Amino acid sequence: MIEKRFTCIRCPIGCNLVVKKYADGKIVVSGNNCPRGEEYGKQELTEPRRTITTIKQTKFGTISLKTDIAVKKEQYFDILKEIEKKKVTKSYQIGDVFIKNVLGTKSNIVVTGVHEEK
Ligand code: SF4
Repeated sequence: MIEKRFTCIRCPIGCNLVVKKYADGKIVVSGNNCPRGEEYGKQELTEPRRTITTIKQTKFGTISLKTDIAVKKEQYFDILKEIEKKKVTKSYQIGDVFIKNVLGTKSNIVVTGVHEEK
């Protein structure tokens, strides 16, 4: 049996989860106060995902970016590299897609803030 402990990050309460995976593949989550915690605990054990937030300096100013769907934790740094590599030839507005389907993840990098240089 594998046993891991996580703090659920699906809401500010932050329940302490205990996630057990048995030899037959069954996963049991305890410590959660709602079904979202069970889902989070199972995902965190089997395929942890994260929303990426970052900023990028461009000649038009600084833009804030985030993934619109959480991506596999192991892809985090590769996605940051894709954001860094992308050449910016225009200004962006909040809500624009900066990179569509980044690295085939089905997640788009979207603009969440625009801070123009003065
Ligand atoms: S288990 Fe439910 S109540 Fe507890 S932190 Fe997660 S989302 Fe919030």
